[in-house]
Amino acid sequence: MGEMQVWPERQTLADEAYTELKSRIIQSILEPGAKLSIDGLAKHMAISQTPIREALARLEVEGLVERRPLSGYTVTPLLTGPEFEDLFELRLLMEPLAASRAAEQAGRTGHDHGLGDFGVLRGLAETPDFGADAKLSRLAFTEADERFHAAVARFSLSPVLAKAIRRLDAHLHLHRAYIEPEAIGETEAEHLAVAAAIIAVKPLAAEEAMRRHLEHSRVRHRAAFAAAAAAGTPAAKPKRAKAAR
Ligand SMILES: [Zn+2]
Repeated sequence: MGEMQVWPERQTLADEAYTELKSRIIQSILEPGAKLSIDGLAKHMAISQTPIREALARLEVEGLVERRPLSGYTVTPLLTGPEFEDLFELRLLMEPLAASRAAEQAGRTGHDHGLGDFGVLRGLAETPDFGADAKLSRLAFTEADERFHAAVARFSLSPVLAKAIRRLDAHLHLHRAYIEPEAIGETEAEHLAVAAAIIAVKPLAAEEAMRRHLEHSRVRHRAAFAAAAAAGTPAAKPKRAKAAR
């Protein structure tokens, strides 16, 4: 064991730091392009630098922070236009297929897939109403949307497909640009159409409903990303180091 042993206490601190930092990044409390000081974060959270470093290493793997030699960590900028379009092209290749597969699986009676009833998809299709706190509501919406898409992927019963969809981390990136509450109200109806087709064992209809949802979702998010770019995110502004030169 020796060096391989994980100290439970340190691990807990690293987990807490990770959760806290991730939450601040996806809520844009830590803005895209912001420089992260390990020392500053450690002082702010009143913990040592080691768990902060571990948390940042995990966030780097998820693509939420970037590390550059000599300059340290920064919050990853929002997706660029081409990255945004690629993300949806990939989702459009994989997620309609997952919906179609899920509908096929729903028709296989007596097959124990260990996931419970396909009817749960109907409940997961619902999105929470927007409350008074827009930021919290938006986070709850993103989480509900992510749960639904992850469930459809799981019900495809293709671990490879489900993993590929999960690896895109689509929601993590999309959530970081502000989307209007009105625009996300349409999501629930679209999700319900996907769930209904899967439960009714209609693979073609499920595939089509998922494609329609993603195409509409792309239009809604594209507007949000264009607005963020036009407003000049911190990442788009001149770098402070440059100005000081
Ligand atoms: Zn969705």
